[in-house]
Amino acid sequence: MSEPRVVLVTGGNRGIGRTIAEEFLAGGDKVAVTSRNGDAPEGALAVAADVTDSDSLDAAFAEVEEKLGPVEVVVANAGITRDNLLMRMSEDDFTSVVDTNLTGAFRTVKRAITNMIRAKKGRIVLISSVSGLYGVPGQGNYSSSKAGLVGLARSITRELGSRGITANVVAPGFIRTDMTDELDEKQRKEYLSTIPAKRFAEADEVARVVRWVASDDAAYISGAVIPVDGGLGMGH
Ligand code: NDP
Repeated sequence: MSEPRVVLVTGGNRGIGRTIAEEFLAGGDKVAVTSRNGDAPEGALAVAADVTDSDSLDAAFAEVEEKLGPVEVVVANAGITRDNLLMRMSEDDFTSVVDTNLTGAFRTVKRAITNMIRAKKGRIVLISSVSGLYGVPGQGNYSSSKAGLVGLARSITRELGSRGITANVVAPGFIRTDMTDELDEKQRKEYLSTIPAKRFAEADEVARVVRWVASDDAAYISGAVIPVDGGLGMGH
């Protein structure tokens, strides 16, 4: 078994982020999770931080570094939706989603790479969505933010690839969480009919891929978009 690493997962108090944190914990790593309410799965260090606020993220990283050590794996998972058709989407609906999902990932990664560059190693995993490259009606804000993560990962790869740092995107399709529980029956049926696998996934199916792409086995994979979507977005 490899040495335990320090892993930080944003938005790790519930949903996919929590399952990702549990997956790293099960693999023996030291895990910190951030969220606005500061909750965490058992065994993880819980730190309150808002990804829209650089100062709170900076304080969270400082606390994790002090209690667990420098962060070697960062998973930018915190995300929100504010769906609406473009005609009805307010500018605030657009900018707040981009601020959390894309700029939030930028803030998280920017803080994380300071130590990664020094250590000459690091794993960055950005949680995007099938929506980012496939496009979804009513998700102009969300799709834009999730597509932006691909550009971010690829730029990081070109900037920092020579420093032992990889940056990859994991793009889930429909995963059973609070976010998808909000769908009504009609939407659920419509979505299921478009997914080749004819089912939604469980969060651990995403979490295992995240842990793998952050492992030594995936050292030569960077700038990739890894879909976990039952075939929904294939070709995109
Ligand atoms: P949830 O709504 O269950 O969880 C979202 C997480 O993000 C929570 O931990 C929440 O914590 C955190 N978060 C939101 N805003 C902020 C903020 N400003 N600062 C810090 N933390 C924040 O979502 P999911 O688990 O479903 O989604 C997780 C990620 O996966 C998201 O990026 C989402 O876009 C993506 N995804 C989800 C899919 C799905 O089917 N569920 C499909 C494709 C992608 P708190 O509110 O307590 O601060």
